[in-house]
Amino acid sequence: MPRVCTVCVHPEREAIDAALVSGTAYTEIARTHEVGREAVRRHANRHLSAALAALRAPTQAGSRAPLSDRIETLIARCEVMFTAAASEGRTAQALAVVKELRACLELAGRASGELRDQPAVVVNLQTSPEWLQVRAVILTALMAYPEARAAVSGRLLELESGQ
Ligand SMILES: [Zn+2]
Repeated sequence: MPRVCTVCVHPEREAIDAALVSGTAYTEIARTHEVGREAVRRHANRHLSAALAALRAPTQAGSRAPLSDRIETLIARCEVMFTAAASEGRTAQALAVVKELRACLELAGRASGELRDQPAVVVNLQTSPEWLQVRAVILTALMAYPEARAAVSGRLLELESGQ
């Protein structure tokens, strides 16, 4: 039977993920949040989302770029990937990118402090100018693909209602 990851179910998981992203040592995270160092390492390797992992990579390579810059870079990459997927009518891929973008924007919001102390991140995202801009770009790019556009816009509504 697979063991439950103590970090995934940890009440401070977000803080742990944030610490991992910012490059805090496993030992220190383990001590701060009273979890096993091994559990932190395993969680970092297996459960950090792709977006978070991509942000973490430059830290380990010794990059000094501020977190906000790295998030911006990631968002820009997502937008490029999205445009490519959308313009070729690859709906599933476009949707996957949209999900990543949403995660990036939430991360950016948290990093900049805009979304701090506001538990309903999703609700705030709907009114964030960046999200509305991305949303508009997405739907415009899909104009030529009515079917894909309908599917994407349906999923966006679901995302925004927090599902
Ligand atoms: Zn985990």
